[in-house]
Formats: sequence, structure tokens, C-alpha cells
Amino acid sequence: MAQKPFDLGGRTALVTGASSGIGARIASVLAAAGARVVLGARRKADLDAAAAAIRAEGHAAHALALDVTSEPSVIAAYDEAERVFGPIDTIVANAGIAVEGRATDLPVAEFDRLMAVNLRGAFLTVREGAKRLIANGSKEKENGRVVIISSITAKKAFRSSAVYAASKAGVSMLGKSLALDWARQGVNVNMILPGYIETELTRSLFAAEAGKQLLATFPRRRLAHESDLDGAVLFLCSDAARRVTGAEIVIDDGQSL
Ligand code: NDP
Repeated sequence: MAQKPFDLGGRTALVTGASSGIGARIASVLAAAGARVVLGARRKADLDAAAAAIRAEGHAAHALALDVTSEPSVIAAYDEAERVFGPIDTIVANAGIAVEGRATDLPVAEFDRLMAVNLRGAFLTVREGAKRLIANGSKEKENGRVVIISSITAKKAFRSSAVYAASKAGVSMLGKSLALDWARQGVNVNMILPGYIETELTRSLFAAEAGKQLLATFPRRRLAHESDLDGAVLFLCSDAARRVTGAEIVIDDGQSL
């Protein structure tokens, strides 16, 4: 067995939504494991700070402005990433937003905004990455790694989450279908389904009474932490996952039981 099965030396990763929360954490974990990491999102100042923190630890990181809802922006991001570090072989489609509240009160524009980031954004991100991987010989190298950050809401219904949950069920099935499509192209596509983690995305929910009631239903009465995803991310991006594709890994401290 390899001495360091989760070593990512020689890999080059793009992480979307890396300006905060889970994405920022994933970028630093991949970099610490040896990958060159490109951090993309809209808030460039936050990305620059996250990339600088990674570089301060002695690792390679580059920040770039990216709006995953825009195909030209996604293409430009890959172009810039390739200019800086060379071809991307590891893609983490993490960018996502939430909308809260009853479906009956939700303006349809909010439905469209959420789907544009969570579903269309994930599609544009992984499709552009896979096109380039395939063009660069992933079929022979079997080096393509795509990880999509889905959610336990893809599997279990929670109150006032219908649209968010539908987007996450969508990305999970998108990922499984693409895993099948790209199985012979050397591109593995896997999903991580985190439970509720306190980040900018969920802070207002858990500050409110509804969030406190939800927390009380969890078996361990607690939120998960961004670092709880570290092991799964490293595994799925590494050579150890060469025969893992189309999988969904739930990391939720039992919240969906
Ligand atoms: P954050 O709000 O902290 O992070 C979301 C990230 O997505 C930010 O970096 C944001 O950057 C980025 N983003 C939003 N819109 C766009 C866009 N149009 N283009 C590019 N980037 C964008 O939340 P989390 O870290 O919690 O969420 C990360 C992922 O994890 C999401 O997909 C979320 O659905 C998922 N998840 C979160 C859970 C939780 O409990 N927190 C549980 C399960 C899944 P910027 O604003 O700078 O563009």
C-alpha cells in the first residue's frame, strides 16, 4: 500500500465558493496535502485573504474572481487557472446559496437565483473542467477527480427547505449521471452530503427559533464543523479513490437519521 494514500502532490485543484466557509476550508486542506489550489468566488478580497493564508503556510494558491452562474466567467476562470498552474485535474464544485422560508412566500426570482448558483453553477463548473480533462488525456491517465458538495437535504426533507433541497437532489443526480457518462474518460465524480454546519449560509437559521428547534431534533444536538469534511475530501481527490465514482458520502453526525 502507498505510504501516503491521500497525498495530493502533483495535483492542481479548482475550488469554487472558496471565499468562506466549507470552500475556504477545502482549499486549505487540499493545499496542505500538496495540491496547487485555485480559489474561485465573487468576493475577491476574501479570496485573496484565503489564498494568502495558504501561501503563508508554504503552499501554492491562486485567487480568481468567478461567478459560477456565468459560462464565460467559468471558462475565463479555467483559462486563468491553467495560465498560472497548468491543467486542472481536481474540481470541487462547492459554491452554493440558500433561501429560507415557506415556498408559498418565495418570489420566483429567488427560485431562479438559487437554481442558477446551486444547479446551473455546479453543471457549468464540472462540465468545463471535464471537457478540459478529457482533452488533456484523462482517459489514459485516469486522473480526473470531481467532487460536488451536495447536502443531506438531497435525501431527507426538512421544513422550509423545498427549493434548496431540490437543487441539492439535482446536483446529486447530476453527479451520478456524469459519473456514468465519464466513467470511461478517467473522470471520477463523487458527492459529499454534509449535514448542517454553522457557516455564513446557516448562521441566521440557527440564530432563529426555527433553527434552535431543528437543532434539538438532531441525535447529538449539535452542528457539524467544516473540518468534519476533511477526510472525505482528501480521500475523494486522491489516488485512493481511483475506483470510487458516483458515490455519495454522508457526513452529518447522524442528523439525517
Ligand atoms: P458560505 O455562504 O460560507 O459559502 C458559500 C460560497 O459560495 C461562498 O464562498 C460564496 O462566495 C460562494 N458563491 C455563492 N454564489 C456564488 C457564485 N454565483 N459564484 C461563485 N461563488 C459563489 O456557505 P457554506 O460554506 O456553508 O456552503 C458551501 C456549500 O456547502 C454550499 O454548496 C452549501 O449548499 C453546502 N452545504 C452547506 C451546509 C451547511 O450547513 N453550511 C450543509 C450542506 C451543504 P461569494 O459570495 O464570494 O461569491
